[in-house]
Amino acid sequence: MNQRQLDEYLDYLRFPSVSTDPAHKNDLVECAEWLAAKLRAMGLATVVHPTAGHPIVVAKNEHRPGRRTVMIYGHYDVQPADPLALWDSPPFEPRIADDYVFARGSADNKGQHFAHVLGIEETLRERGELPVNLILLVEGEEEIGSEHLEQFLATHRDELRCDLIAISDTGMVAKGQPTLSYGLRGVAAMELRVKGPASDLHSGIYGGAVMNPATALVRLLATLHDDEGRVAVSGFYDTVLPLEKWERDAWQQVPFGDADFLNVTGAPELFGEAGYTSLERTWARPTAEINGIGGGFQGVGSKTVLPSEAFAKLTFRLVPNQQPDDILAKVRAHLQARCPRGVRVEIDCGHSGEPYVTDPNSPSSMAARRALQQAFPGKDVALIREGGSIPIVNTFKRVLGVETLLLGLALPDCRAHAPNENFPVENFFAGVRLNRALLNELAHPTQ
Ligand SMILES: [Zn+2]
Repeated sequence: MNQRQLDEYLDYLRFPSVSTDPAHKNDLVECAEWLAAKLRAMGLATVVHPTAGHPIVVAKNEHRPGRRTVMIYGHYDVQPADPLALWDSPPFEPRIADDYVFARGSADNKGQHFAHVLGIEETLRERGELPVNLILLVEGEEEIGSEHLEQFLATHRDELRCDLIAISDTGMVAKGQPTLSYGLRGVAAMELRVKGPASDLHSGIYGGAVMNPATALVRLLATLHDDEGRVAVSGFYDTVLPLEKWERDAWQQVPFGDADFLNVTGAPELFGEAGYTSLERTWARPTAEINGIGGGFQGVGSKTVLPSEAFAKLTFRLVPNQQPDDILAKVRAHLQARCPRGVRVEIDCGHSGEPYVTDPNSPSSMAARRALQQAFPGKDVALIREGGSIPIVNTFKRVLGVETLLLGLALPDCRAHAPNENFPVENFFAGVRLNRALLNELAHPTQ
Protein backbone atom coordinates (compact mmCIF):
# COMPACT_ATOMS: atom_id res chain seq x y z
CA MET A 1 0.00 0.00 0.00
CA ASN A 2 1.27 3.43 -0.93
CA GLN A 3 0.37 5.95 1.78
CA ARG A 4 1.10 8.98 -0.41
CA GLN A 5 -1.38 7.76 -3.05
CA LEU A 6 -4.01 7.10 -0.40
CA ASP A 7 -3.49 10.55 1.14
CA GLU A 8 -3.98 12.24 -2.23
CA TYR A 9 -7.19 10.31 -2.76
CA LEU A 10 -8.44 11.48 0.65
CA ASP A 11 -7.52 15.07 -0.22
CA TYR A 12 -9.58 14.80 -3.41
CA LEU A 13 -12.56 13.57 -1.36
CA ARG A 14 -12.46 16.64 0.88
CA PHE A 15 -13.91 18.89 -1.85
CA PRO A 16 -17.70 19.05 -1.39
CA SER A 17 -18.22 19.03 -5.17
CA VAL A 18 -22.01 18.70 -5.10
CA SER A 19 -23.00 19.62 -8.65
CA THR A 20 -26.72 20.11 -8.10
CA ASP A 21 -26.31 22.75 -5.37
CA PRO A 22 -25.46 26.32 -6.52
CA ALA A 23 -23.95 27.00 -3.08
CA HIS A 24 -21.12 24.59 -4.02
CA LYS A 25 -20.33 26.11 -7.40
CA ASN A 26 -16.94 27.35 -6.25
CA ASP A 27 -16.11 24.02 -4.60
CA LEU A 28 -16.45 22.40 -8.01
CA VAL A 29 -14.09 24.93 -9.55
CA GLU A 30 -11.56 24.35 -6.76
CA CYS A 31 -11.89 20.60 -7.09
CA ALA A 32 -11.33 20.77 -10.87
CA GLU A 33 -8.30 23.04 -10.37
CA TRP A 34 -6.85 20.70 -7.74
CA LEU A 35 -7.14 17.78 -10.14
CA ALA A 36 -5.68 19.81 -12.99
CA ALA A 37 -2.68 20.79 -10.83
CA LYS A 38 -2.10 17.12 -10.06
CA LEU A 39 -2.27 16.18 -13.74
CA ARG A 40 0.08 19.00 -14.73
CA ALA A 41 2.58 17.91 -12.09
CA MET A 42 2.50 14.48 -13.73
CA GLY A 43 3.56 16.09 -17.00
CA LEU A 44 0.21 15.95 -18.79
CA ALA A 45 -0.96 18.92 -20.87
CA THR A 46 -4.06 19.89 -18.92
CA VAL A 47 -6.84 22.37 -19.58
CA VAL A 48 -9.76 23.25 -17.33
CA HIS A 49 -12.55 24.12 -19.76
CA PRO A 50 -15.28 26.33 -18.36
CA THR A 51 -18.83 25.45 -19.46
CA ALA A 52 -22.17 27.12 -18.83
CA GLY A 53 -22.28 24.76 -15.86
CA HIS A 54 -19.27 23.19 -14.12
CA PRO A 55 -15.80 22.90 -15.69
CA ILE A 56 -14.50 19.93 -17.66
CA VAL A 57 -10.88 18.85 -17.11
CA VAL A 58 -9.04 17.41 -20.12
CA ALA A 59 -5.46 16.11 -19.89
CA LYS A 60 -3.28 14.56 -22.57
CA ASN A 61 0.18 13.12 -22.93
CA GLU A 62 2.14 13.86 -26.07
CA HIS A 63 0.29 12.10 -28.87
CA ARG A 64 2.28 10.24 -31.46
CA PRO A 65 1.13 8.87 -34.78
CA GLY A 66 0.73 5.11 -34.99
CA ARG A 67 -0.37 4.62 -31.41
CA ARG A 68 -3.88 3.87 -30.23
CA THR A 69 -5.73 6.73 -28.57
CA VAL A 70 -7.58 5.83 -25.39
CA MET A 71 -9.93 8.14 -23.51
CA ILE A 72 -10.50 7.58 -19.82
CA TYR A 73 -13.62 9.28 -18.50
CA GLY A 74 -14.60 10.12 -14.94
CA HIS A 75 -16.62 12.68 -13.01
CA TYR A 76 -15.44 14.75 -10.06
CA ASP A 77 -18.93 15.91 -9.05
CA VAL A 78 -20.86 14.08 -6.36
CA GLN A 79 -24.41 13.66 -5.14
CA PRO A 80 -25.66 15.71 -2.17
CA ALA A 81 -24.75 14.20 1.19
CA ASP A 82 -28.23 14.52 2.68
CA PRO A 83 -29.57 13.19 4.93
CA LEU A 84 -26.50 14.12 7.00
CA ALA A 85 -27.83 12.61 10.22
CA LEU A 86 -27.57 9.12 8.73
CA TRP A 87 -23.80 9.33 8.16
CA ASP A 88 -21.55 7.73 10.78
CA SER A 89 -18.89 10.38 10.03
CA PRO A 90 -18.93 13.67 8.09
CA PRO A 91 -19.28 12.97 4.33
CA PHE A 92 -16.45 15.29 3.31
CA GLU A 93 -14.04 14.25 6.06
CA PRO A 94 -12.91 10.89 4.72
CA ARG A 95 -12.50 8.14 7.30
CA ILE A 96 -10.87 4.74 6.93
CA ALA A 97 -12.44 1.91 8.91
CA ASP A 98 -12.00 -1.83 8.35
CA ASP A 99 -10.01 -1.02 5.21
CA TYR A 100 -12.89 0.88 3.62
CA VAL A 101 -12.81 4.57 2.80
CA PHE A 102 -16.03 6.29 3.88
CA ALA A 103 -16.86 9.61 2.17
CA ARG A 104 -19.21 11.06 -0.41
CA GLY A 105 -17.62 10.36 -3.80
CA SER A 106 -15.35 7.60 -2.47
CA ALA A 107 -16.82 5.11 -4.96
CA ASP A 108 -18.93 7.35 -7.23
CA ASN A 109 -16.72 8.40 -8.84
CA LYS A 110 -13.56 9.98 -7.37
CA GLY A 111 -11.98 6.77 -6.08
CA GLN A 112 -12.51 4.96 -9.35
CA HIS A 113 -11.09 7.52 -11.75
CA PHE A 114 -8.39 8.81 -9.39
CA ALA A 115 -7.01 5.26 -9.27
CA HIS A 116 -6.59 5.56 -13.05
CA VAL A 117 -4.81 8.89 -12.57
CA LEU A 118 -2.34 7.29 -10.16
CA GLY A 119 -1.82 4.32 -12.48
CA ILE A 120 -0.90 6.76 -15.23
CA GLU A 121 1.46 8.55 -12.86
CA GLU A 122 3.24 5.31 -11.94
CA THR A 123 3.73 4.36 -15.58
CA LEU A 124 5.03 7.82 -16.44
CA ARG A 125 7.48 7.71 -13.53
CA GLU A 126 8.82 4.29 -14.39
CA ARG A 127 8.87 4.48 -18.17
CA GLY A 128 8.86 8.18 -18.94
CA GLU A 129 5.89 7.72 -21.26
CA LEU A 130 2.61 5.87 -21.74
CA PRO A 131 2.08 3.04 -24.24
CA VAL A 132 -0.91 4.86 -25.78
CA ASN A 133 -2.06 8.33 -26.69
CA LEU A 134 -4.09 9.24 -23.63
CA ILE A 135 -7.01 11.60 -23.22
CA LEU A 136 -8.29 11.91 -19.67
CA LEU A 137 -11.67 13.65 -19.48
CA VAL A 138 -13.16 14.37 -16.06
CA GLU A 139 -16.43 16.29 -15.96
CA GLY A 140 -18.38 17.93 -13.15
CA GLU A 141 -22.00 17.40 -14.17
CA GLU A 142 -22.51 13.64 -14.36
CA GLU A 143 -24.81 13.58 -11.37
CA ILE A 144 -27.05 16.22 -12.96
CA GLY A 145 -27.33 14.65 -16.39
CA SER A 146 -24.04 15.76 -18.05
CA GLU A 147 -25.93 18.73 -19.44
CA HIS A 148 -23.02 20.42 -21.19
CA LEU A 149 -20.93 17.40 -22.12
CA GLU A 150 -22.47 16.60 -25.50
CA GLN A 151 -21.99 20.14 -26.76
CA PHE A 152 -18.42 20.09 -25.45
CA LEU A 153 -17.67 16.81 -27.24
CA ALA A 154 -19.13 18.17 -30.48
CA THR A 155 -17.16 21.43 -30.24
CA HIS A 156 -13.89 19.62 -29.44
CA ARG A 157 -14.50 16.57 -31.60
CA ASP A 158 -11.13 16.75 -33.37
CA GLU A 159 -8.97 17.02 -30.27
CA LEU A 160 -11.03 14.30 -28.54
CA ARG A 161 -10.86 11.82 -31.41
CA CYS A 162 -10.01 8.41 -29.94
CA ASP A 163 -10.19 4.69 -30.64
CA LEU A 164 -12.13 3.81 -27.54
CA ILE A 165 -13.21 4.96 -24.11
CA ALA A 166 -12.77 3.28 -20.73
CA ILE A 167 -14.90 4.16 -17.72
CA SER A 168 -14.70 2.88 -14.18
CA ASP A 169 -18.08 3.99 -12.82
CA THR A 170 -20.00 0.73 -12.56
CA GLY A 171 -19.92 -2.17 -10.14
CA MET A 172 -18.24 -5.49 -9.46
CA VAL A 173 -20.58 -8.40 -8.82
CA ALA A 174 -18.74 -9.29 -5.61
CA LYS A 175 -15.61 -8.37 -3.68
CA GLY A 176 -12.49 -9.57 -5.48
CA GLN A 177 -14.48 -10.57 -8.58
CA PRO A 178 -13.24 -8.62 -11.64
CA THR A 179 -16.20 -7.54 -13.74
CA LEU A 180 -16.66 -6.27 -17.28
CA SER A 181 -20.06 -4.73 -18.02
CA TYR A 182 -20.87 -4.98 -21.72
CA GLY A 183 -24.46 -3.80 -21.71
CA LEU A 184 -26.78 -1.24 -20.16
CA ARG A 185 -30.51 -0.75 -20.29
CA GLY A 186 -32.01 2.38 -21.76
CA VAL A 187 -34.94 4.31 -20.39
CA ALA A 188 -38.00 6.17 -21.66
CA ALA A 189 -40.29 8.26 -19.45
CA MET A 190 -43.96 9.19 -19.79
CA GLU A 191 -46.58 10.97 -17.72
CA LEU A 192 -50.20 10.05 -18.04
CA ARG A 193 -53.15 12.20 -16.96
CA VAL A 194 -56.73 10.92 -16.92
CA LYS A 195 -59.28 13.74 -16.89
CA GLY A 196 -62.97 13.50 -16.14
CA PRO A 197 -65.41 16.06 -14.68
CA ALA A 198 -64.51 19.77 -14.77
CA SER A 199 -63.87 19.82 -11.01
CA ASP A 200 -63.83 17.46 -8.02
CA LEU A 201 -67.38 16.27 -7.31
CA HIS A 202 -69.36 15.17 -4.23
CA SER A 203 -69.33 11.39 -4.48
CA GLY A 204 -72.80 11.14 -2.94
CA ILE A 205 -74.51 13.60 -5.25
CA TYR A 206 -72.69 12.61 -8.46
CA GLY A 207 -71.03 9.25 -7.74
CA GLY A 208 -72.40 6.64 -10.14
CA ALA A 209 -73.34 9.17 -12.80
CA VAL A 210 -69.84 9.84 -14.17
CA MET A 211 -66.66 7.81 -14.64
CA ASN A 212 -64.19 8.23 -11.80
CA PRO A 213 -60.79 9.20 -13.33
CA ALA A 214 -58.88 7.31 -10.60
CA THR A 215 -60.83 4.15 -11.43
CA ALA A 216 -60.22 4.72 -15.13
CA LEU A 217 -56.50 5.24 -14.48
CA VAL A 218 -55.98 2.00 -12.56
CA ARG A 219 -57.97 0.04 -15.13
CA LEU A 220 -55.82 1.51 -17.85
CA LEU A 221 -52.55 0.87 -16.00
CA ALA A 222 -53.60 -2.71 -15.36
CA THR A 223 -53.57 -3.33 -19.11
CA LEU A 224 -49.79 -2.72 -19.28
CA HIS A 225 -48.92 -6.25 -18.13
CA ASP A 226 -50.35 -9.72 -18.48
CA ASP A 227 -50.59 -12.13 -15.53
CA GLU A 228 -47.17 -13.62 -16.34
CA GLY A 229 -45.36 -10.30 -15.89
CA ARG A 230 -44.95 -9.66 -19.61
CA VAL A 231 -45.57 -6.18 -20.98
CA ALA A 232 -48.82 -6.41 -22.93
CA VAL A 233 -48.21 -3.50 -25.30
CA SER A 234 -48.42 -4.68 -28.89
CA GLY A 235 -44.99 -4.76 -30.56
CA PHE A 236 -43.13 -4.01 -27.29
CA TYR A 237 -40.75 -6.97 -27.70
CA ASP A 238 -40.44 -6.83 -31.50
CA THR A 239 -36.86 -5.56 -31.58
CA VAL A 240 -35.58 -7.11 -28.34
CA LEU A 241 -32.29 -8.92 -28.83
CA PRO A 242 -32.81 -12.41 -27.37
CA LEU A 243 -30.42 -13.59 -24.68
CA GLU A 244 -27.74 -15.84 -26.05
CA LYS A 245 -27.03 -19.21 -24.54
CA TRP A 246 -23.50 -18.26 -23.46
CA GLU A 247 -24.89 -15.25 -21.59
CA ARG A 248 -27.44 -17.31 -19.71
CA ASP A 249 -24.73 -19.86 -18.87
CA ALA A 250 -22.25 -17.17 -17.79
CA TRP A 251 -24.80 -15.41 -15.59
CA GLN A 252 -25.56 -18.68 -13.81
CA GLN A 253 -22.01 -18.41 -12.45
CA VAL A 254 -22.44 -14.85 -11.15
CA PRO A 255 -22.28 -14.97 -7.34
CA PHE A 256 -25.51 -13.01 -6.97
CA GLY A 257 -28.73 -14.88 -7.59
CA ASP A 258 -32.42 -14.96 -6.79
CA ALA A 259 -31.83 -15.58 -3.07
CA ASP A 260 -29.68 -12.43 -2.94
CA PHE A 261 -32.35 -10.43 -4.79
CA LEU A 262 -34.89 -11.57 -2.22
CA ASN A 263 -32.57 -10.68 0.62
CA VAL A 264 -31.53 -7.26 -0.72
CA THR A 265 -35.02 -6.15 -1.75
CA GLY A 266 -36.89 -7.40 1.31
CA ALA A 267 -39.84 -8.24 -0.97
CA PRO A 268 -42.12 -11.11 0.20
CA GLU A 269 -41.25 -12.98 -3.00
CA LEU A 270 -39.68 -12.29 -6.37
CA PHE A 271 -41.87 -11.61 -9.37
CA GLY A 272 -41.13 -10.79 -13.00
CA GLU A 273 -41.45 -11.91 -16.58
CA ALA A 274 -42.01 -15.68 -16.71
CA GLY A 275 -39.13 -17.80 -18.00
CA TYR A 276 -36.23 -15.65 -16.78
CA THR A 277 -34.03 -15.39 -13.70
CA SER A 278 -33.86 -12.13 -11.78
CA LEU A 279 -30.47 -11.28 -13.30
CA GLU A 280 -31.84 -11.91 -16.78
CA ARG A 281 -34.93 -9.83 -16.04
CA THR A 282 -32.92 -6.87 -14.79
CA TRP A 283 -30.01 -7.00 -17.25
CA ALA A 284 -31.50 -8.14 -20.53
CA ARG A 285 -35.29 -7.80 -20.49
CA PRO A 286 -37.33 -4.60 -20.83
CA THR A 287 -39.87 -3.46 -18.27
CA ALA A 288 -42.81 -1.10 -17.78
CA GLU A 289 -42.84 0.53 -14.35
CA ILE A 290 -45.31 2.77 -12.59
CA ASN A 291 -43.03 5.14 -10.63
CA GLY A 292 -45.75 7.27 -9.11
CA ILE A 293 -49.50 7.48 -9.02
CA GLY A 294 -51.82 10.13 -7.62
CA GLY A 295 -55.12 11.97 -7.68
CA GLY A 296 -57.98 12.64 -5.32
CA PHE A 297 -57.83 12.96 -1.56
CA GLN A 298 -54.42 12.22 0.04
CA GLY A 299 -55.00 13.60 3.55
CA VAL A 300 -55.70 11.96 6.91
CA GLY A 301 -59.11 10.36 7.33
CA SER A 302 -61.62 10.06 4.51
CA LYS A 303 -63.24 12.47 2.13
CA THR A 304 -66.12 11.56 -0.13
CA VAL A 305 -64.76 13.09 -3.28
CA LEU A 306 -64.83 12.02 -6.88
CA PRO A 307 -61.57 13.46 -8.24
CA SER A 308 -61.63 15.38 -11.49
CA GLU A 309 -58.35 13.83 -12.57
CA ALA A 310 -55.69 11.27 -11.72
CA PHE A 311 -52.12 10.81 -12.95
CA ALA A 312 -49.34 8.28 -13.18
CA LYS A 313 -45.63 8.58 -13.95
CA LEU A 314 -44.24 5.74 -15.98
CA THR A 315 -40.79 4.67 -17.15
CA PHE A 316 -39.77 1.86 -19.42
CA ARG A 317 -36.36 0.21 -19.10
CA LEU A 318 -35.23 -0.73 -22.57
CA VAL A 319 -32.78 -3.28 -23.92
CA PRO A 320 -31.00 -3.58 -27.26
CA ASN A 321 -32.34 -2.95 -29.92
CA GLN A 322 -35.42 -1.11 -28.62
CA GLN A 323 -35.64 2.59 -29.51
CA PRO A 324 -37.14 5.00 -26.95
CA ASP A 325 -39.26 6.91 -29.49
CA ASP A 326 -40.67 3.73 -30.97
CA ILE A 327 -41.55 2.32 -27.55
CA LEU A 328 -43.18 5.56 -26.39
CA ALA A 329 -45.29 5.68 -29.58
CA LYS A 330 -46.42 2.09 -29.07
CA VAL A 331 -47.32 2.69 -25.43
CA ARG A 332 -49.17 5.88 -26.32
CA ALA A 333 -51.24 4.05 -28.94
CA HIS A 334 -51.91 1.21 -26.47
CA LEU A 335 -53.16 3.57 -23.75
CA GLN A 336 -55.24 5.74 -26.05
CA ALA A 337 -56.94 2.72 -27.62
CA ARG A 338 -57.88 1.43 -24.16
CA CYS A 339 -58.98 4.71 -22.60
CA PRO A 340 -62.15 3.89 -20.65
CA ARG A 341 -65.38 5.64 -21.63
CA GLY A 342 -66.20 8.86 -19.84
CA VAL A 343 -62.65 10.23 -19.46
CA ARG A 344 -59.90 11.73 -21.61
CA VAL A 345 -56.23 10.68 -21.52
CA GLU A 346 -53.37 13.14 -21.90
CA ILE A 347 -49.86 11.81 -22.38
CA ASP A 348 -46.56 13.69 -22.13
CA CYS A 349 -43.27 12.02 -22.97
CA GLY A 350 -40.21 12.80 -20.83
CA HIS A 351 -36.49 12.06 -20.96
CA SER A 352 -35.11 9.02 -22.68
CA GLY A 353 -31.84 7.20 -23.29
CA GLU A 354 -30.98 4.35 -25.59
CA PRO A 355 -29.83 0.94 -24.39
CA TYR A 356 -26.23 -0.07 -25.01
CA VAL A 357 -24.40 -3.28 -25.73
CA THR A 358 -20.90 -3.96 -26.93
CA ASP A 359 -19.17 -7.18 -27.90
CA PRO A 360 -17.40 -8.67 -24.85
CA ASN A 361 -15.22 -10.71 -27.22
CA SER A 362 -14.00 -7.84 -29.39
CA PRO A 363 -10.22 -7.24 -29.37
CA SER A 364 -10.64 -4.22 -27.08
CA SER A 365 -12.94 -6.10 -24.70
CA MET A 366 -10.49 -9.00 -24.62
CA ALA A 367 -7.71 -6.54 -23.78
CA ALA A 368 -9.85 -5.15 -20.96
CA ARG A 369 -10.52 -8.67 -19.69
CA ARG A 370 -6.79 -9.46 -19.60
CA ALA A 371 -6.18 -6.21 -17.73
CA LEU A 372 -8.90 -7.03 -15.18
CA GLN A 373 -7.36 -10.45 -14.70
CA GLN A 374 -4.00 -8.85 -13.91
CA ALA A 375 -5.56 -6.38 -11.48
CA PHE A 376 -7.42 -9.17 -9.66
CA PRO A 377 -5.20 -12.24 -10.05
CA GLY A 378 -6.66 -15.69 -9.73
CA LYS A 379 -10.29 -14.87 -10.54
CA ASP A 380 -12.18 -15.23 -13.80
CA VAL A 381 -13.68 -12.03 -15.16
CA ALA A 382 -17.46 -11.89 -14.76
CA LEU A 383 -19.17 -10.69 -17.96
CA ILE A 384 -22.34 -8.88 -17.08
CA ARG A 385 -24.81 -6.32 -18.26
CA GLU A 386 -26.37 -3.78 -15.92
CA GLY A 387 -29.98 -2.85 -15.39
CA GLY A 388 -29.34 0.88 -15.08
CA SER A 389 -28.59 3.46 -17.73
CA ILE A 390 -25.42 5.53 -18.37
CA PRO A 391 -26.55 8.00 -21.03
CA ILE A 392 -23.03 9.35 -21.69
CA VAL A 393 -22.05 5.98 -23.17
CA ASN A 394 -24.51 6.60 -25.99
CA THR A 395 -23.42 10.23 -26.24
CA PHE A 396 -19.83 9.07 -26.79
CA LYS A 397 -20.98 6.63 -29.45
CA ARG A 398 -23.13 9.23 -31.19
CA VAL A 399 -20.66 12.14 -31.13
CA LEU A 400 -17.25 10.43 -31.19
CA GLY A 401 -18.32 7.18 -32.85
CA VAL A 402 -16.51 4.91 -30.38
CA GLU A 403 -17.31 2.07 -28.02
CA THR A 404 -16.96 2.27 -24.25
CA LEU A 405 -15.46 -0.33 -21.93
CA LEU A 406 -17.12 -0.39 -18.50
CA LEU A 407 -14.61 -1.59 -15.90
CA GLY A 408 -16.40 -0.97 -12.63
CA LEU A 409 -14.67 -1.19 -9.25
CA ALA A 410 -17.51 -0.39 -6.83
CA LEU A 411 -19.02 -3.13 -4.70
CA PRO A 412 -22.76 -3.88 -4.57
CA ASP A 413 -22.97 -2.41 -1.04
CA CYS A 414 -20.95 0.77 -1.79
CA ARG A 415 -23.98 2.98 -0.98
CA ALA A 416 -23.43 5.33 -3.88
CA HIS A 417 -25.83 8.31 -3.59
CA ALA A 418 -26.68 7.22 -0.01
CA PRO A 419 -25.27 7.84 3.48
CA ASN A 420 -21.97 6.10 4.35
CA GLU A 421 -20.79 5.75 0.77
CA ASN A 422 -17.64 3.63 0.79
CA PHE A 423 -14.89 2.13 -1.34
CA PRO A 424 -12.49 -0.61 -0.24
CA VAL A 425 -8.85 0.45 -0.01
CA GLU A 426 -7.94 -2.75 -1.87
CA ASN A 427 -10.22 -1.81 -4.79
CA PHE A 428 -8.57 1.58 -4.98
CA PHE A 429 -5.14 0.00 -5.39
CA ALA A 430 -6.57 -2.63 -7.73
CA GLY A 431 -7.73 0.33 -9.84
CA VAL A 432 -4.17 1.64 -10.00
CA ARG A 433 -2.98 -1.79 -11.20
CA LEU A 434 -5.92 -2.02 -13.59
CA ASN A 435 -5.00 1.23 -15.29
CA ARG A 436 -1.40 0.15 -15.83
CA ALA A 437 -2.42 -3.22 -17.25
CA LEU A 438 -5.22 -1.69 -19.31
CA LEU A 439 -3.06 0.85 -21.13
CA ASN A 440 -0.50 -1.87 -21.88
CA GLU A 441 -3.11 -4.27 -23.20
CA LEU A 442 -4.96 -1.64 -25.21
CA ALA A 443 -1.72 -0.57 -26.88
CA HIS A 444 -1.77 -3.90 -28.73
CA PRO A 445 -5.34 -5.16 -28.47
CA THR A 446 -5.08 -7.96 -31.03
CA GLN A 447 -2.32 -9.93 -29.28
ZN1 LIG B 1 -23.57 8.72 -9.32
